[in-house]
Amino acid sequence: MSGRLMVVGLGPGDAGGLTRDAEEALRAAEALYGYGPYLDRVPAREGQARFPSDNREERGRAEAALRHAAQGADVAVVSGGDPGVFAMAASVCEAIEAGPDAWRALEIAIIPGITAMLAVAARAGAPLGHDFCAISLSDNLKPWELIERRLDAAAAAGFVIALYNPVSRARPWQLGKALAVLSQRLSGATPIILGRAVGRSDETLTITTLDRAAGLSADMATLIIVGSKETRVIARPGRSPLVYTPRATERVSA
Ligand code: SAH
Repeated sequence: MSGRLMVVGLGPGDAGGLTRDAEEALRAAEALYGYGPYLDRVPAREGQARFPSDNREERGRAEAALRHAAQGADVAVVSGGDPGVFAMAASVCEAIEAGPDAWRALEIAIIPGITAMLAVAARAGAPLGHDFCAISLSDNLKPWELIERRLDAAAAAGFVIALYNPVSRARPWQLGKALAVLSQRLSGATPIILGRAVGRSDETLTITTLDRAAGLSADMATLIIVGSKETRVIARPGRSPLVYTPRATERVSA
């Protein structure tokens, strides 16, 4: 019997954001691997084994799940949002590339999910309506200098920028520095969206501008969207503003 490894995106929050394919994969799995709080979002099913692990142990978790699948089991590794965005799908691929030949023979199924930047964008309007990019501010896996260079290049090129992993306890100053780098290229009036715990009961959404963003609190559950020169804000009576980036850009200068 040959095993299967599924890498399943849970979406940003509650069950409403789970796709049917993801639901089906979670039902089919004999064993679930993942960061504890993500596993807690999956309803318990009898006969299904659970292997929670710490947030930082992605490679070890991928290897454990692959070993399990190689024994012939149907195994699912879960990720918040989409598993291919700063998450487990790449860890599984890295483990397969470095691992034993048997892992290359396994069936691998990556089940996409709604990634945080799409969930936050949808709450605010359509900020990703034109060209955009996503940058993780975590310097655990890449040098900080590279992050600064990418932020500068992305702002100079006129992209709307989604910032993942803006802050953690071990990375308290990076967000402030990132906003300072962006401020050298962008006007203080540039729209900024902070979406926290979007899709969960404690969700919050803040719409502000770049010159005010430094004073705002963000944490590990926050995703930030930084507008481009084209991004616009529509004020509405009694409702939060709509932020959008028009489909067309006429000017060549970014
Ligand atoms: N694979 C995930 C991203 C993992 S990186 C995805 O596709 O969404 C973790 C970062 O994602 C967090 O630091 C935060 O920036 C963002 N994030 C994840 N879930 C979120 C949510 N519900 N609301 C806002 N941001 C979220």
